[in-house]
Amino acid sequence: MNEEIIIPAELRELNRERCNRWHDPMTDDWSLGDWGNAFGGEAGELQNVVKKLRRHEAGASLAYNTPELNVLLDSFVEEVADVLLYLDLLCWKAGVHQAQLVRALRAKFNLVSQAQGWDDLQWEP
Ligand SMILES: [Mg+2]
Repeated sequence: MNEEIIIPAELRELNRERCNRWHDPMTDDWSLGDWGNAFGGEAGELQNVVKKLRRHEAGASLAYNTPELNVLLDSFVEEVADVLLYLDLLCWKAGVHQAQLVRALRAKFNLVSQAQGWDDLQWEP
C-alpha cells in the first residue's frame, strides 16, 4: 500500500501538527466547508498563474500584471504545493484514509481508461 498518495507521510504528519497549532480544535475548529474554501482558494491561485502562463503561450499582451515566464513557472510549482497541502488537510478533515484514497484512485482511473477502450491502461497497486 502506497502511503504517500498526496504528499510524503512525514510531511503529512507535520502538516496536521501545524494545522492543529494554527487552528486549535478547541478554540478555532474549522468546518469541512472552511477547509474546502481554503483548498478552493489555493486552486484559484493556481488557476490565476495558469491564466498568466496562457498569456505568454498565446502571445497576448503582457502589459498588465503578468510576470516573466520563469517567475510564473516558480509560482506554478508553489501553488501546486499549496493545493496539495490543503487537499491533504481536506481529506484528513473529511476522515478519508489513505487506503480509501488508493481504492478510489484505482477505481476512477481504471473506469475512465476502460471508457476510452484503453484496457491496457489499468492501475493495479
Ligand atoms: Mg497559494
